[in-house]
Amino acid sequence: MTQINRRDFIKLTGASAALVAVPSVLKAEIGSAYEARVVVVGGGFAGATLAKYLCLWGDANIQVTMIDKNPNHVSCILSNLILNDRLNMNDITLPYTSLQDNYGVIVRQGLVTDVTGDDVKIVHLDDGDTITCDYVVLAPGIEFIDVPGLKEGAANNFDVVPHAWIAGPQTELLRDQLHSMQQGDTFVMTVPQSPYRCPPGPYERACVVADYIKRVNDGDGHVIVLDPHPEVTIEKETFEQAFNGIYKDIVNYVPNATLQSIEINPGEKIAKTTAGDYAGKVLNVIPTHKSGKIVEDLGLLPVGARFAPVDSASYESTIRPGIFIIGDANDSGQPKSGHMANSQAKVGADAIIRMIASKSSSVDFVHDPARLEKIRTNSACYSPITYDEASFLTAVFAYETTNNSMKLVQDSFASSNSPHWNKDNFEDMFIWSESLFSNSFT
Ligand SMILES: Cc1cc2nc3c(=O)[nH]c(=O)nc-3n(C[C@H](O)[C@H](O)[C@H](O)COP(=O)(O)OP(=O)(O)OC[C@H]3O[C@@H](n4cnc5c(N)ncnc54)[C@H](O)[C@@H]3O)c2cc1C
Repeated sequence: MTQINRRDFIKLTGASAALVAVPSVLKAEIGSAYEARVVVVGGGFAGATLAKYLCLWGDANIQVTMIDKNPNHVSCILSNLILNDRLNMNDITLPYTSLQDNYGVIVRQGLVTDVTGDDVKIVHLDDGDTITCDYVVLAPGIEFIDVPGLKEGAANNFDVVPHAWIAGPQTELLRDQLHSMQQGDTFVMTVPQSPYRCPPGPYERACVVADYIKRVNDGDGHVIVLDPHPEVTIEKETFEQAFNGIYKDIVNYVPNATLQSIEINPGEKIAKTTAGDYAGKVLNVIPTHKSGKIVEDLGLLPVGARFAPVDSASYESTIRPGIFIIGDANDSGQPKSGHMANSQAKVGADAIIRMIASKSSSVDFVHDPARLEKIRTNSACYSPITYDEASFLTAVFAYETTNNSMKLVQDSFASSNSPHWNKDNFEDMFIWSESLFSNSFT
């Protein structure tokens, strides 16, 4: 059922991507007599937003250092549009300079390798440097689970079989491989096991590649989509209509196809799955995900878990107090999306400021019922289906006190239908993404 239409959503997202507390109310409640140091690990949509809002809502009383291994962030959002040359890498490269200049975030480039200490924490970087702080926020995104023949521990063949699921050089590599395809060639791709980042993303990619083959290679070529799930996991009608309609001569969708290994031969790459072996000139494996490596290294993943458990009112780790985990890396039961990462960051920033202001080391303090009932998060994805048409999906989540978790708000789930994709959505996609990029990074 669609309660929010596309235009309403665009108006809402223009105001803010998501909010838990009105900053002026928050400041009035807590005053300004507090001081603390926070280190944020990871400058993606989650980490950048949290660093910005800690400075914005916490005034100058909180020293915020954000550390990322890269000099700027390359957005996964819109990155499928690099594959068909709709955008170039500059369009999705987001510098950190505004966070420094406009809000006073201290930005450091480096890889965080460890966090030691209890009340006072020491963050260790790979260059041997350390930073002392009171709170640590981990926002490292994802790491990939091993696939025999592709990724085994630290070794991988991603330079031959790209994932292009962490945007950057991988995106350019997959684009170049797609562009090298001749008429009659096949593009094989795999869908990761749920939960994974951007639920419609793999199906969206299949459409973008199929559209490219249709336009550039005269429709002479194939896209094989190997899905471990029994059916398309999200926007089912939209993607089934695309696969069986406009792309019926190009896309072969294979359900129940769990990837077991890959083989790389001269001229072809083979995906070996529970539904058979599939060979193509290009093989795009998007392996199943787990939390970014630092989360596992710090022992914040229970045995056998892929994502880190957190308290949904603050995003504090349920395993190690004083460490917060936001964005794709946590197991909050909400969709893994940049829009959601931005939302979670605001809830986390609000909780940390309240803890700092109250000089409370316990998240119980932020479980005040008046605060809990305000907690809302939001997710949204736009999926290009053709060169200039897209589909749309959004959902709102609210805190549920009975089991301390975020639950989908009834009737808030909205997606485009009749038609499932159109030009208006495609244009709105850029208004929405610009708003989200700016809300997170500038
Ligand atoms: C093709 C595609 C399309 C998508 N489309 C949408 C969409 O339409 N809407 C939407 O909302 N979302 C979309 N997403 C999902 C979205 O990109 C992710 O959910 C989002 O990037 C998650 O943000 P994050 O901050 O948790 O992680 P990331 O964006 O991965 O950021 C993590 C950061 O941490 C850094 N890092 C990791 N470990 C360390 C360390 N130890 N030390 C220092 N730095 C570290 C990394 O360098 C990185 O910059 C899409 C994703 C893909 C792949």
